[in-house]
Amino acid sequence: MDFSQSKSIFETAQSLMPGGVNSPARAFGSVGGTPLIMERGEGAYLYDVDGNKLIDYIGSWGPMILGHKHPGVLEALRVAMENGTSFGAPTAAENELAQLIIDLVPSVEKVRLVNSGTEATMSAIRLARGFTGRDVVVKFSGNYHGHVDSLLVAAGSSAATLGVPNSPGVTAGTSKDTLILNYNDVDGLVAAFNEHGSRIAAVIMEPVVGNMGCVPADADFMQAVRDVTSQHGSLMILDEVMTGFRVSIGGAQQIYGVSPDITTMGKIVGGGLPIGAYAGRADIMDHVLPAGQVFQAGTLSGNPIATAAGIATLKALRDESPYEKIDQLASRLGDGLAAAAESAGVEHCVQRVGSMLTLFFHFGPVKSWDQAAECDTKRFSSYFWGMIENGVYMPCSQYEALFVSAAHTQQDIDHTIQAAEKVIAAL
Ligand SMILES: *Cc1c(COP(=O)(O)O)cnc(C)c1O
Repeated sequence: MDFSQSKSIFETAQSLMPGGVNSPARAFGSVGGTPLIMERGEGAYLYDVDGNKLIDYIGSWGPMILGHKHPGVLEALRVAMENGTSFGAPTAAENELAQLIIDLVPSVEKVRLVNSGTEATMSAIRLARGFTGRDVVVKFSGNYHGHVDSLLVAAGSSAATLGVPNSPGVTAGTSKDTLILNYNDVDGLVAAFNEHGSRIAAVIMEPVVGNMGCVPADADFMQAVRDVTSQHGSLMILDEVMTGFRVSIGGAQQIYGVSPDITTMGKIVGGGLPIGAYAGRADIMDHVLPAGQVFQAGTLSGNPIATAAGIATLKALRDESPYEKIDQLASRLGDGLAAAAESAGVEHCVQRVGSMLTLFFHFGPVKSWDQAAECDTKRFSSYFWGMIENGVYMPCSQYEALFVSAAHTQQDIDHTIQAAEKVIAAL
């Protein structure tokens, strides 16, 4: 494959933007080499500036569950654009999107729209602290909640440790009220609540972690989070920015049968345009300004163009219900990748929930960050580039889930499996 145009454009980009990108994962840092510069998307495919066609398993890191250029979404955008792009005043469309979210996500009674997943988690944390009058927030190693200062804290200690910042610019003061625990560790969770329970405002968690590869919560761990937070007067924040409208139409909370106090959303809820949302129990949400005292605002929040894309996407998911089809495709893909690694004699495990899946170069199962960190990431880099050479575009890190969309076909999946057989055998 020829990547000369990509190389040249990326070289220029590096003189214009830090690292040449506007979000770090795009720079291919963990696999090396030059990122592909994309020109357009169509259904399940991306086309780069050198004219290479790739089967896309990133889907813009989550939002594009319907594939690129879904006709219903494009039509909704066209209609919305005719009326202008932003008013800074309420619109009826915001009611429609809020109602859809309330109807589809079991625990949600009221919604506030924001512009990104990061804004959603940042605002949810502030709301939880304002509602409870407490300071401490619990997060789990390897869970990503956007670039919120207080949530950008080191992952890795096996015991409960009070957080230390791991990005320059995040002060010790900001992260000192963040308590980091191990994912899927019920005993550690209970012990932390026994010691600090009366100071804990909230636990925030990914129900199925996508940000250390696909790592689902054990059912008893999810239940333990619900139980200890209720017992200690803390809130449970389920970060469904990635899983919302993906692992099922009602998100992971529908699959687990758990009812969080606050849910954060992003990605699919904007259908490829910038939207996030935090939502939940009405008595909690009514603490947000102007109903309550917790400040949160946004010039472009509920923007009519983005809102239109969100409505069209959620309606298509509700009416077309592609989940069973996507699940079958993803299952076929997961089985095929596992078989390819097995026949090549490569240590591996495949973890999957619905359309999210990861081939780990680890004997598995991977249940926590400590285990994820043991993966053979060098092997992953060779695998990643081998797949690109065969026309398959997967996340450029062992620690990201790949996504199957409603636009993928069985031929796409089978092409991908054949590529994996060839690539893994040659590793
Ligand atoms: C992507 C993601 C975020 C951050 O969302 P942005 O829109 O990138 O700010 C937060 N939480 C989870 C679980 C995510 O996957």
